[in-house]
Amino acid sequence: MSRRVLLVEDEAPIREMLRFILEQSGFDVTEAEDFDVALEKIKEPYPDLILLDWMLPGGSGVQLAKRLKQHEYTRDIPIIMLTARGEEEDKVRGLDAGADDYVTKPFSPKELIARMKAVIRRVAPTSSEEMIEFNGLRLDPVSHRVTAFERPVDMGPTEFKLLHFFMTHSERVYSREQLLDNVWGTNVYVEDRTVDVHIRRLRKAISESNHDGMIQTVRGAGYRFSTKL
Ligand code: CA
Repeated sequence: MSRRVLLVEDEAPIREMLRFILEQSGFDVTEAEDFDVALEKIKEPYPDLILLDWMLPGGSGVQLAKRLKQHEYTRDIPIIMLTARGEEEDKVRGLDAGADDYVTKPFSPKELIARMKAVIRRVAPTSSEEMIEFNGLRLDPVSHRVTAFERPVDMGPTEFKLLHFFMTHSERVYSREQLLDNVWGTNVYVEDRTVDVHIRRLRKAISESNHDGMIQTVRGAGYRFSTKL
C-alpha cells in the first residue's frame, strides 16, 4: 500500500522536483501551493505524512503545523518541515510547533526519503514481521536473520532484540533505562551497565561491514540508532 503524502510548497519547481522524487519512492502525492489550499486538502483520507514548507503565501508552515496539532483528527499526522533556514532557533520553533522532523534546503533526495520513512515508522511502528533495512544492514524478524550487504551476521538473541528495537525506532535517543524497558522488559532486573555490554557486542557484530557507526553514543543521554553521523 503506498503512503499518502501531502506536499505543501509554494515554489512550483521545488514542488515538481519533490513530486518526482516521492513518486519514484512509491509515495502517493497530493500537492498544495499555499496555506489555504493545504487546509482544504487535509481531509479524509488523511495523508500519512505532510511535507511542509516553512514560508508559504497565506500563513507560515509553523502556523499550519500548530493548527493541525490542535485537532483530534490531524494531531497524529507526522510533519516534516522543509526550510531554507538552518538556524538552530528556527529548528526549535518548528519542532515546538509540532513538526516531527526538519529538513533544510537544499537537501539530498535520499536523505529526505530516509527521514520520511523514519518518521512514518516511528508514528506507525512497523509490524513486528516486516523486514527492515538501513544502508545494507537488513533484519528479518521472521527468520531471525541479520545480513550486511547480503552476508549473514552472527549475533546473540539479546543483540538481535536490541538491533530490532533500534531499527524500528531510528533517529531517536534512548536512555539505558528506556532500552532496558523496551528490550529486556519492565519486570526484569538488570543493571544499566548490562545495556552497555550488549551495545558493545552488537557494535562488534556489525563492525565488519562498518555498520557499527549507526549505533551512536549520545553523551549524558544514552544511545541512538542513526544513519546520520
Ligand atoms: Ca516557500
